[in-house]
Amino acid sequence: MEGAVVRKRTAYSPIDADAQFVSVYCDGRDGDSNHERWLVATFYPDAEESADGEPVWMEVVGQYWRTGGEVVHIAGRAATRLVGDRPISHEEWKTDGAVFDHGDSRTRYNLTCRTCGLALVIKAPELRGRVLSPLVAIGAREVSLTGIRYMLRA
Ligand SMILES: [Zn+2]
Repeated sequence: MEGAVVRKRTAYSPIDADAQFVSVYCDGRDGDSNHERWLVATFYPDAEESADGEPVWMEVVGQYWRTGGEVVHIAGRAATRLVGDRPISHEEWKTDGAVFDHGDSRTRYNLTCRTCGLALVIKAPELRGRVLSPLVAIGAREVSLTGIRYMLRA
C-alpha cells in the first residue's frame, strides 16, 4: 500500500490517439529501471500561447496519461505558483483572485518520486523549452525523471 496516495485505474481511454502530452515517471535513480514506475505528472500544451508564441504547458492535476490512452488517477500536484519567491496556496488564490498580479508571478515544478526520493525542481519555461516541447516534437509521450536529468545536462 502507498498510504493515502490514490492510484486508481480507469477502464476507459478518454485520451485521443493524437493528443499531445508528455507524462513523467520514475523507475529508478540510475536509469536502469530498478523500481516499479512511480507516476509523477502529465503535462499538455494548452491552446493559449505565451508571450514568445510558444504554447503554455499545463499540468493535468490528479491524472497520469499513458501512451496508449489509459488514465491513472494520482494524488498531489507538481506545480507551485510563486509571486516573487513566495508560494501562493490555492486557499490564498481563492481569497484574493488577483494575488498573482501583485508582483512577478511564475510557475515552478517539483517533480518528485515518492519511491526512491529522486526530485527535480524546475522552472516552467525551462521544463517547456528543454524537455516538453522537444519530446512532443519527436512523438515521445512518456519520459523518466532520469531522462529529464540527462536532457537538462545536455
Ligand atoms: Zn524513483
